[in-house]
Amino acid sequence: MIRKIITYPDKRLWQKSKDIINFDETLHQLLDDMYETMINKEGIGLAAIQIAVPLNVLIINLLDEESKTQKKEDLIEIINPVITKKSGKTLFTEGCLSVPGFYEDIERYKQISVAYCDRNGNKHEKEFEGLLAIAVQHEIDHLLGHLFIEKLSYIKRKKFEKEYKRLQKAR
Ligand SMILES: [Zn+2]
Repeated sequence: MIRKIITYPDKRLWQKSKDIINFDETLHQLLDDMYETMINKEGIGLAAIQIAVPLNVLIINLLDEESKTQKKEDLIEIINPVITKKSGKTLFTEGCLSVPGFYEDIERYKQISVAYCDRNGNKHEKEFEGLLAIAVQHEIDHLLGHLFIEKLSYIKRKKFEKEYKRLQKAR
């Protein structure tokens, strides 16, 4: 089922999400709904809080390099993530389904290691780099109650507030 994505400045986006305890049918339904919602909105990543569910669940599905399409076999489901290692710096123009129409360069770690569970509660620890590392950090920020616009400089943030208000009025 496609769920409604909450957008800035909805206060729930600043809520800290809680860990999943039961890896059951309810979680699987949430993951499936998140996938449907993300694909419907042409997103490459989604955190549960973006559909107003404050649980530590995120999904990522990058475009396949060759076909430039999102293949379901590339879907990554990450539950209860903890960043265990981080190194390097990288800059990438990020966007967010909860801040529609706004894109800005954001600095992130270049490589990260993440300990997490899959949908069946099995534990994993994986190293991510490139766009995958950026996307995972962006989504983990959502789980911690943060948005990428908080990383903007004061001047850019002011510019964003102005532009965003105008965009919302135009809608
Ligand atoms: Zn986002």
